[in-house]
Amino acid sequence: MTAFRILLALAAFALSTSDAGAQTERITLHAASAFDGKGRSIPDVTIVVANGKIADVRSGEAVTPTYDLRGLTILPGLIDTHVHLDTHFGKDGTASNRGETPAQAMLYEAENAYITLMAGFTTVQSIGSPSDVEARAAIARGVMPGPRLLTSIRPVNENSGTPDQIRAFVRQVKADGADLVKLFASKSSREGGTQTMTDEQVAAACGEARRLGLRTWVHAHSPSSIRAAVNGGCTVVTHGSQATPAELQLMASRGVYFEPNIGLVSQNYLENRSRYFGIGNFDEQGFAFTEKGIPMKLEMFKNALKVSGLKLLMGTDAGAGAHGRSAEEIIYRVQIAGQRAADALAGATSLNAQAIELGTRIGTIAAGMDADLIAVDGDPLKDITVLRRVRFVMKGGKVYRNNLFTPVSAPR
Ligand SMILES: [Zn+2]
Repeated sequence: MTAFRILLALAAFALSTSDAGAQTERITLHAASAFDGKGRSIPDVTIVVANGKIADVRSGEAVTPTYDLRGLTILPGLIDTHVHLDTHFGKDGTASNRGETPAQAMLYEAENAYITLMAGFTTVQSIGSPSDVEARAAIARGVMPGPRLLTSIRPVNENSGTPDQIRAFVRQVKADGADLVKLFASKSSREGGTQTMTDEQVAAACGEARRLGLRTWVHAHSPSSIRAAVNGGCTVVTHGSQATPAELQLMASRGVYFEPNIGLVSQNYLENRSRYFGIGNFDEQGFAFTEKGIPMKLEMFKNALKVSGLKLLMGTDAGAGAHGRSAEEIIYRVQIAGQRAADALAGATSLNAQAIELGTRIGTIAAGMDADLIAVDGDPLKDITVLRRVRFVMKGGKVYRNNLFTPVSAPR
């Protein structure tokens, strides 16, 4: 090493240590109350943040906070376990994205990441697209605003081959950087949702993923496809629109998480019918299934609420037109389906964190957790629609949104 190089290395070291020093300075938030993610409310709350983490949580203390969030409620950053962050309405105004360059598509994904974070979702799981790998890396570099991103990259389906070929596929997708494995075990709800992968194919994918330490998210509508996922040792059943009380009970007794999507995805397709119509199975018959599915899913969800021990995750399946509106799923579950607000909020925070194996870092407000904190304009336990009024977003101790109040004192 030349002397000049040594000097450069020393300068870089000095820079990095002074950065670390800046990060250890404390930021305090004060608000009317906080919901801790697990069911507990903390009145007159002060949260101390240092080095990107929650250092302390206190109640009833007179402080001059860095951020005075009076009148607001602080929540853990929300988590959506099922989005398709790459999907968007492109230059022709539809979801077909005809004639788009990869660079254009990537920028739409960056926009979706931004609006998702601004809506209070500090972590999402994209299920999934190869472009997520680059989006995940860009967000992690810390400049482009977006939620902490997990992705399945590419899915397994009935055409992925023999059980051995499927195991090889799972190893490859892990090598490519997948955080989880997505399986399509049934047809789309727009095609009736019957089982597509064999029980053996499902078991091969979920078994190999488990062996490698990866979680599995199984798209399954019909009862038999749900049973294949449970019996195959998979982590999560998503959709489950045709689940009967028997499948709901089976998931609960086997500890399989259930991620129904009842309040946003179908409604969004119908609201944006002309922007989807004519693409793949978005035809007359597909939309008829979608319309019929809304009351059917509502009934199924009401049955799910009656099953004790069933772990109901908050995932939306948000596609083009739905990004930034993930909270609508929570609002629908509470307002229309009658879920307790505290349970629905725990589903979107601590329970979701546990399901994506980040439960020791995010989803709960407690000392030692990452400082992913949002504030909403009102008390969501009394009026769940305040989730539409996110005023403050912090991720990893960094403030990304603060559009009601300015700091009363700059961070020291
Ligand atoms: Zn999906």
